[in-house]
Amino acid sequence: MALIVQKYGGTSVGSVELIQRVADRVAQTRQAGYDLVVVLSAMSGETDRLVRLASEVTPSPDEREMDMLLSTGERVTIALLAMSLRGRGFNARSFTGRQVGIMTDGSHTKARIARVAADRIREALTEGVIPIVAGFQGINERSDVTTLGRGGSDLTAVALAAALKADQCTIYTDVDGVYTADPSIVPSARRLDKVSYEEMLELASLGAKVLQGRSVEFAARHNVPLVVQSSFKEGQGTRVANEDKDMERMAVAGVTGDRNQAKLTIIGVPDRPGIAARVFGPVAEANIIVDMIIQNVGQGSLTDISFTVPRVDLGRAMSLVQRVVKEIEAKSVEVTEAIAKVSLVGVGMRSHSGVASRMFEVLSREGINIMMISTSEIKISCVIDEKYLELAIRALHAAFGLDEAAS
Ligand code: ASP
Ligand code: MG
Repeated sequence: MALIVQKYGGTSVGSVELIQRVADRVAQTRQAGYDLVVVLSAMSGETDRLVRLASEVTPSPDEREMDMLLSTGERVTIALLAMSLRGRGFNARSFTGRQVGIMTDGSHTKARIARVAADRIREALTEGVIPIVAGFQGINERSDVTTLGRGGSDLTAVALAAALKADQCTIYTDVDGVYTADPSIVPSARRLDKVSYEEMLELASLGAKVLQGRSVEFAARHNVPLVVQSSFKEGQGTRVANEDKDMERMAVAGVTGDRNQAKLTIIGVPDRPGIAARVFGPVAEANIIVDMIIQNVGQGSLTDISFTVPRVDLGRAMSLVQRVVKEIEAKSVEVTEAIAKVSLVGVGMRSHSGVASRMFEVLSREGINIMMISTSEIKISCVIDEKYLELAIRALHAAFGLDEAAS
């Protein structure tokens, strides 16, 4: 019998009525003859509520206690769903991360999965039980509860699907798949029938919030067949799988925007060996992730270096950089907060040339100035003024033939 792991996100289990609808779907899947394991998130808003409670108690809550707190949200939904199914005569049972044997490292609030034992789940399946598993949680070596980072229930589902060698892992959410662009910005955006793991990974890291980035990475590494589907309406959703010929046919699969970066420019940097290391060393040590870097061609013995950091880390980055500026005797630092990154993603870029130049042309036609550019094999990103982000996304979406009517 085929085995399916179904994961339902917070908006799909946000109320008792919605939990009953999940029970309907689980019951249907069961009656259609599948073996299934269900993974749940907490009710929508619940994890945020718990985070707020903690911050009301103390400004920087202890991380072990934070995990003890945050892991409660998922216990509520798994118990309620299991009760609902049992009330209908289905043999369902709820399991916490500990009971499943989701073993993680010790980094509380952002633990990484080391191993999934899943013995109790296998046992349950042989006995014909439907296991209902708490997402987002595991235990460390000392059996203390850990959590996998926000959105981590996706990772639980994928890791469990890999451990059980499931035939499919379906992520039920409040959208009916992965789109060529955010439909709230581009009304003519299309749902993609399939995307490659690699494209999905880029889209997730660029802020398309459909799947947690780490879960996509895990799925790619273990070849877990993933499907993103709406829990509210029927449809085939988007399949996330290995790259194939259809995916290569289109140069661009999607357009995304990211407003979470800020730009720092160090002006009048002495142009000599070792300076870049002096600038970026302390930033890296502070765990600040630098996304793009540009060093201009030196004029005389001086040059400028611009780079982007997450906006939330701007304050910290600024004080580190100001210290370095003094040490290396650069002139000054300038900050531009209102930037945005617009990106094209597609495995087709490997075989279609001219995507970058086309992108620059489109932006220039709209009068949008490009501040920084970065490219990878399947992605091109430009940093622009934040106020033109939506315009840029719409223009690029149309220019690359992604609008609904074009297909
Ligand atoms: N409840 C957790 C969160 O909100 C995990 C999840 O929903 O995936 O981040
Ligand atoms: Mg989620």
